[in-house]
Amino acid sequence: MVITRYDLSRSELAELLEGEPNYRITQVWEGLHGQHRDPADLTNVPKPLRSAIEELLPAALTPVRETASDNGSTVKQLWQLGDGYLIESVLMHYRDRSTVCVSSQAGCAMACSFCATGQIGFDRHLTTGEIVEQVVRASQRSGNKRVSNVVFMGMGEPLANFDNVWPAVERIHDDLGIGARKITISTVGVIPGIEQLSRKHLPVSLAVSLHSANDKVRNSIAPINRTYPLRKLAEALQSYKRAKNRRISLEWAMMAGVNDTENAARELAAFAQPLNAHINLIPLNPTPGYTNPGSDTESINWFQEILESFGVNATVRSNRGTDIDAACGQLRAEHRVKLSKRPKV
Ligand code: SAH
Repeated sequence: MVITRYDLSRSELAELLEGEPNYRITQVWEGLHGQHRDPADLTNVPKPLRSAIEELLPAALTPVRETASDNGSTVKQLWQLGDGYLIESVLMHYRDRSTVCVSSQAGCAMACSFCATGQIGFDRHLTTGEIVEQVVRASQRSGNKRVSNVVFMGMGEPLANFDNVWPAVERIHDDLGIGARKITISTVGVIPGIEQLSRKHLPVSLAVSLHSANDKVRNSIAPINRTYPLRKLAEALQSYKRAKNRRISLEWAMMAGVNDTENAARELAAFAQPLNAHINLIPLNPTPGYTNPGSDTESINWFQEILESFGVNATVRSNRGTDIDAACGQLRAEHRVKLSKRPKV
């Protein structure tokens, strides 16, 4: 695999640029990370060094296309990786923050039936550099509105790629300067990953895509539940909570007749209460491979009220970028087109 611009640690960069004084390494490191600059724009560094960096450290992401919606406040970026795979990230501006939603894998192996990425299958893990660069590129695009939050809710299952995701989290925190609490890892419930996360010191936020608190239903919509069933997941989340003392949020995409009934709410409340978890209800976004309709607004509001009556906090997540296939679960990066175009490596 080719080493790309954001793959290296600072000491590896110093090694690569052997012979350069320490202050130069700092200038380069700061320029690339703190100021999100391309090597060509490192104007405080001599030109030959700039060119050398450009050659030694190619960008991991080549822009393919950008689409905007919500009056420009949601921007989806489509990237091509060095070996031809396509991934997407989504930049969302809110009144009080700007969030980038990054991908952790090309495709996904979790096969959740209602998720567009799950429907296309798994291609490969992203490298640390490919993940970090998504945040840098979004920051460049974002301009004055500093990217303040990073959510691992794009393509892929971050906790199935822990070895590359965690160094990316550290880089995003230490070098790009984004607070740990403003970095959210979202998982469908990969228990070994949750255990690894609970041993890390950075207090990142954890979201769990639950969608059903009934094993039979969950097995059918999120097949990973057959490997990591609800009882085991609950135990893992309890020990995560004990270790980190952080509130967990549970994601629940609302599917008509599947998980929006009174019984489903009761099961969810029973799962959420001992964890003191917060629930995010997500209106289901349409995807090509799932025909069951999403719950209508009335049912979502009703479901929220029932949860509240059971003493559980729930909010309805506002949807962004549905019209440009940028909303939760809609990222698929024109997978089919890509396969035929992918160059041999
Ligand atoms: N694999 C990780 C992160 C990616 S998905 C995870 O499962 O958490 C990001 C969020 O979008 C998850 O909560 C996921 O369940 C949700 N999602 C997937 N498909 C969706 C859809 N069609 N409509 C609404 N949300 C969806």
